[in-house]
Amino acid sequence: MAKFLRPESFSAATEDLSLLPFNFERTGANQYLVANMVGDFVHLSEEELNRLVDLQVRPGDGLYEKAYAAHLVTGANQKAQRQLLAARLRSRMSFLQHTTPLHIFVVTLRCEHSCPYCQVSRQSTDRSRFDMSEQTAMRALDVAFGSPMARIKIEFQGGEPLLNFPLIKKIVAAAKQRPGKKLDFVIASNLALLDDAVLEFCKDNNVLLSTSLDGPSDLHNKNRPRPSANSHELAVAGIKRARETLGPDRVGALMTTTEASLERVDEIIGEYLRLGLDGIFLRPLSPFGFAVKTKQYAKYDAQKWLAFYERGLRRILEINRQGTPFREFYAALLLTRMLSDRPIGYVDLRSPAGAGLGALVYNYDGSVFASDEGRMLAETGDDTFRLGHVEHDSYSSLILSDKLIGAISSSLTQCAPECSTCVFESHCGADPVYHHATQGDALGIKPLSAFCARQKGIMGLLLDILERSPEDAAILRRWAAA
Ligand code: SF4
Repeated sequence: MAKFLRPESFSAATEDLSLLPFNFERTGANQYLVANMVGDFVHLSEEELNRLVDLQVRPGDGLYEKAYAAHLVTGANQKAQRQLLAARLRSRMSFLQHTTPLHIFVVTLRCEHSCPYCQVSRQSTDRSRFDMSEQTAMRALDVAFGSPMARIKIEFQGGEPLLNFPLIKKIVAAAKQRPGKKLDFVIASNLALLDDAVLEFCKDNNVLLSTSLDGPSDLHNKNRPRPSANSHELAVAGIKRARETLGPDRVGALMTTTEASLERVDEIIGEYLRLGLDGIFLRPLSPFGFAVKTKQYAKYDAQKWLAFYERGLRRILEINRQGTPFREFYAALLLTRMLSDRPIGYVDLRSPAGAGLGALVYNYDGSVFASDEGRMLAETGDDTFRLGHVEHDSYSSLILSDKLIGAISSSLTQCAPECSTCVFESHCGADPVYHHATQGDALGIKPLSAFCARQKGIMGLLLDILERSPEDAAILRRWAAA
């Protein structure tokens, strides 16, 4: 059998033409942004778009070549274009072959911080009934090892997980004794309790550390109160010690944007640079846990956050132009989707949604949730995303539960109102937990969704920079290729 199609399969169509799927959006009086089914963008004038839709194009007229190159039109009997699109789509969606690579163990809900934006509804440190038991942990490992993935990541969260460090050690030891999987470990900690024993353990077991850093000392300490008001000092000292002991790439930091952060993005980025970190993830507050109870979540809207984000992104590009490589990680994820066909497993940027398929969360009491946000909702009385319990469920029964299948199938962007015709759909994601939390519906009404507004705002901004500023576009392209 011939390995390649015959040359005429790739030549200009002379027979009837056929449109390929595409979405479009008006961007100006006479201008449209058009995206093919794998999200390549092209600008067309209104007259061009009308001619294309009416198939009033022919080889040699310029528009045909433009539309053909953008996979918007093909010969009715020509297979090559469709096969190419199918291959690209298959590559983009291949994250579906990697089911549940992440398993989050909430080893305790206790915490010695009292952050008003806390999304997990932590408990005070002395309430040890909020610790996971060893029996629950071993059952959770049974479920995690039931996942078909050859490599899984086990992440320890809280509360503050180091308050139950003995259990973390037991889980790591038990997981390593079980055959059949490669393992990665992460501890998500505020680092206030980091000591030599923890660092030694992380080094011996190749454990990554992930922490929170909201910016300069006064901002961070305001956001993250603890006795002695020294959260920032402890986090910074912890980051430095961890980088020295484990290596610069073995500790990462995440920031959360509060109302107090909005005017201070340059200082926040400066703090990350000062500590030698190679990038920052500019994150909005999530509508869960204490962030809702204390009304922190309602203190700024999507437009204010987008203004904050744009200022931050432009500052980061300036830093790169001055010779220091530094990334904004959310932009890097989106750019990978926009400029390549590499699959992205990031749970908020995929459809079908990453709930359950991307991660399972084992709560301290043995309840299993489809996502970290799902367990945050449960702490405030909403069990919608509680899939089962480690005592009487297996990996299969959790993943095939009606609850999970219902949430995922009802939130697909590919067929959701607004999303299915959105020019950014290929690069966006379904976020059923967010939309359930904010609108009481897994699908959500997208014109009222802050998630949607942020997605459109950021992707529009990135496209604008890619098209108007060659020097910044080169930096963004490097992020996508990293
Ligand atoms: S959530 Fe918004 S930006 Fe994303 S695909 Fe749907 S309509 Fe488009």
